[in-house]
Amino acid sequence: MKIAIAGSGALGCGFGYMMQKNGNNVTLIDFWEDHIKAIQETGLTITVNGKEDNIAIPIGKPSEVKDTFDAVFIFTKSMGLRHMLEEIKHILTEDTKVICLLNGLGHAKTISEYIPEKNIIMGTTVWTGGLDAPGKTHFMGEGPVEIQNADVNEKEGTLQIVKMMSDSGLNGVYSEDVHFTTWRKACVNGTMNALCSLLDCNIKELFETTDIDGLLKGIVSEFSLVAKTEGANLNVEETISYLKATAEKVGAHYPSMHQDLKNKRLTEIDFLNGTVAKEAENKGLEAPYSKLITQLVHAKEDILGIK
Ligand code: NAD
Repeated sequence: MKIAIAGSGALGCGFGYMMQKNGNNVTLIDFWEDHIKAIQETGLTITVNGKEDNIAIPIGKPSEVKDTFDAVFIFTKSMGLRHMLEEIKHILTEDTKVICLLNGLGHAKTISEYIPEKNIIMGTTVWTGGLDAPGKTHFMGEGPVEIQNADVNEKEGTLQIVKMMSDSGLNGVYSEDVHFTTWRKACVNGTMNALCSLLDCNIKELFETTDIDGLLKGIVSEFSLVAKTEGANLNVEETISYLKATAEKVGAHYPSMHQDLKNKRLTEIDFLNGTVAKEAENKGLEAPYSKLITQLVHAKEDILGIK
C-alpha cells in the first residue's frame, strides 16, 4: 500500500517504520527541518520495544511531496491538524483514505471540511512513543489500534487498512463504535494528563491523593454529559473504574501533557477539557471543572512562556 505519514514525530515515525518494514511504500511528511535533515542524511533510528534499528525512509515537507497516496495517517498534535490538512491537499485523491488517531475531540469534523466522509477513518491507539533527538525516536506497546470509517457503510476500505496494520505488527482492530472509544480515551487524557500537569505529579501519585474520587467524578460527569449530546453513551461509574484500572497498569508514569509543559510545548488541552467546556456552554450545560482546568493549563503555558 502507498502510505504517507502526515506529521512524523514520535507516533508518526513508529507507525511509518512498522508499515515500511512490512513492505509498504511509506513517505514521511513533516515541517521540522532538523528532523527531516537527520532522517535524509542518516536514516531513521528507532527503538521498538527495546530493539534499535535504522532504516532509510523518504521524508520531506508537504510541498516537496509530489505523489498521491492510498492512505494518509495523520500524526500531528491536535492543534496542527488543520494546518497539515491545508498543506497536504495535493497528495489526496478522491479515494485516499485519511486515518486520524490523534488524542482529543472534534477531529472528524475538522477533517470533513477537507475530504468526503467515505474517506475519513477515525481511531484510537494505545501504542506510545517519544522523540529522543532529531531523527531518533522510540515506540512501545503491542496495540491495539482501533479504527472505524466515519461513514459506516464504507467498511471494506477500513478492513483493508486494519489488515495492513495487523500484518505490520500494529494490531489493527475494526471497531464497531470508535466514537465511544474516542470519548473514553478523552476521559483518560482529560483526567490524568490535565491533573498530573497541573499538580506536577505522576499517575501513581495522582491516584493516591485524598480526593481523587471526587475529582474523577466531577470531570467524568461533565465529559459524559457532553458525550451524550453527541451520541456517545459514557457511563460515569464504568468510566471511573476503567480509569482506575488504567492508572494501576501505567503506574509511576508522567503523561504526555506533563512532558509537553516540561519541554515548553503547547498542550492539547483545548481539544480535551477545553472542548467539553466549550460544547457544554454552547448547549446550555454546566461544566465548571472542565472550564477551570482549561484556564489553569493555559495559565501554566503563559507562565512558561509557551506560544
Ligand atoms: P510529537 O510531538 O512527537 O509529533 C507531533 C509533531 O510535532 C510532528 O510533526 C513533530 O515533528 C513535531 N515536533 C515534535 N517535536 C518538535 C520540535 N522540537 N520542534 C519542531 N517540531 C517538533 O507527537 P506524538 O507524540 O507523535 O503525538 C501525535 C498525536 O498522537 C497526538 O494527538 C498525541 O496526543 C497522540 N498520541 C500520542 C501518544 C504518544 O505516546 N506519543 C500516544 C497516543 C496518542
